[in-house]
Amino acid sequence: MPQGYTDPMPSEPFELKTRRGVASVATAEVVRTSRGTRYARAVAICVGGILIGAGTIIIPLVHFVAPWGIPLLSFALAAYVLTLRGRVLAVEGPCPACGETASFGDQGTLSNDPIWVLCPHCKEPLQMTPQVGD
Ligand SMILES: [Zn+2]
Repeated sequence: MPQGYTDPMPSEPFELKTRRGVASVATAEVVRTSRGTRYARAVAICVGGILIGAGTIIIPLVHFVAPWGIPLLSFALAAYVLTLRGRVLAVEGPCPACGETASFGDQGTLSNDPIWVLCPHCKEPLQMTPQVGD
């Protein structure tokens, strides 16, 4: 359980879908990173990148690249941070392919990338997608 987290573990519906489009609804335990936290982090990264980039103007040779390169990198990093919606700790639900209850452990970061898992019973690849937007 993440530090500072006191509420009971929140669960929300996730869709499990096979490559052929057969879907079922599973229950996922998800720790969400709030939109405000994500934007605050992204802004902090951008400001940090601009300040560090500006600071390199006085360094010989480095000043040809770093004053604009570091802010650009920080913008890319900030855009990536905005896509990190939280962490998927566990998912459990009926496999849409074989109907057996399948449980999956920690799936890591919830971002815009699809999460693929294999059903432990029939080995069917399943894509899990949150049903709740933010
Ligand atoms: Zn299955």
